[in-house]
Amino acid sequence: MISGIRGTRDILPAEVGRWQRIERVARDLCARYGYVEVRTPVIEREELFAKGTGESTDIVQKEMYAFTDKGGDRITLRPEATPSMVRTFVEHALEQELPCAKLYSLGPMFRYERPQKGRYRQFHQLDVEVFGIADPAIDAEVIEMASALLFELGIDSAELVINSVGCDACRPQFSEALVAALGERVADLCADCQRRTTTNPLRIFDCKVPADQPIIDQLPHSEDYLCDACRDHFAGVKGHLEAYGLAYRVSHRLVRGLDYYTRTTFEMLGTGLGAQNALLGGGRYDHLVKQLGGPDRPGIGFAVGLERLVLALPEGAAPPEPADAFVVALGDAVWPAARILTRDLRRAGIRALIDYEGRSSKSQMKRANRSGVRHMLILGEDELASNQVTVKTMETGHQQTVARDALADHLRAAGTD
Ligand code: AMP
Repeated sequence: MISGIRGTRDILPAEVGRWQRIERVARDLCARYGYVEVRTPVIEREELFAKGTGESTDIVQKEMYAFTDKGGDRITLRPEATPSMVRTFVEHALEQELPCAKLYSLGPMFRYERPQKGRYRQFHQLDVEVFGIADPAIDAEVIEMASALLFELGIDSAELVINSVGCDACRPQFSEALVAALGERVADLCADCQRRTTTNPLRIFDCKVPADQPIIDQLPHSEDYLCDACRDHFAGVKGHLEAYGLAYRVSHRLVRGLDYYTRTTFEMLGTGLGAQNALLGGGRYDHLVKQLGGPDRPGIGFAVGLERLVLALPEGAAPPEPADAFVVALGDAVWPAARILTRDLRRAGIRALIDYEGRSSKSQMKRANRSGVRHMLILGEDELASNQVTVKTMETGHQQTVARDALADHLRAAGTD
């Protein structure tokens, strides 16, 4: 047997109903909030993420499935959606044709991380992005929509955490303040953090190494270093969240592991998910569109991991729905008509099963029983001659004859009582 690749999962019949439900709720919600779907390729140029996500990020340095293709180009499986969404927005000049540049996408992402509960090498995200609006009202609306998604899925115990990482005007001072506050203790930090002091000191807050934590706890907070414009913006976001009645916690450690964030960052943390408890995360990126060759437009968005939503859903796994009916052919001469009947029922919207190997009527009935269908439809030579079908309702054992023309309506009506 050739097994699946470590860190990837098969979504099996017993679970797929939960996925379909999440996707249905997500699409419906996105439409109500004015988002339109785009579908971008799973493979992109490696430089899109080196430039977009950031050369010094863990994603780009350690986690990309990057390779040279047969034509000699550097390609990668996308590790996240935002740079692809920005690329498609810029490449197709979407702002010209859309009334409001709100885009969403659903699909797989790939990161070479150590697999554990809630963390996989192929995982799926709903990604939501808004281009061209700088006002804090949109930050709050995006966060409110994320919270509505969890609410509509029945996930009611998530905690909203927010922060502001400032902008190009104030972040350099904050970075300097971090390095200054560390002073000689830099040498006591882990190798990753020592590197971060030169590449991107803010990312020290992402460190999970226990020995580093007492030092990191003493560091200054970004909120205290915001310029006036960023402070006003952050106050605006908080005000809108309060108006929506959304409880939040400000965490100065929420810098998120990507280079492009400016001002607002946020996450929603679930309960009972173990170490990988971030259901979703996002933030504002006011320079990324320009940096990737587009017009000077701000952006904001978030990505939610579908695997984590599946884990957080309150109800247990729903088994796949049984079909509506099983067509049983009595006698060899009836098979062709039984197959036509099955086809016609399916065309009329009925989920119908039939046997394939010319089995005896007894063995067909056994199969019908095992399949869990509501009705067995018996077609013998008498029924064929009179243009009727015998309908047996499995639950009650009740049997009646129904005219063939009325059969689909009859089954539909029986399905709704
Ligand atoms: P990020 O792009 O890292 O901010 O992640 C956004 C969301 O995607 C997280 O909150 C998770 O729900 C999900 N996610 C990220 N990485 C993984 C992974 N390796 N496996 C499963 N879900 C993930």
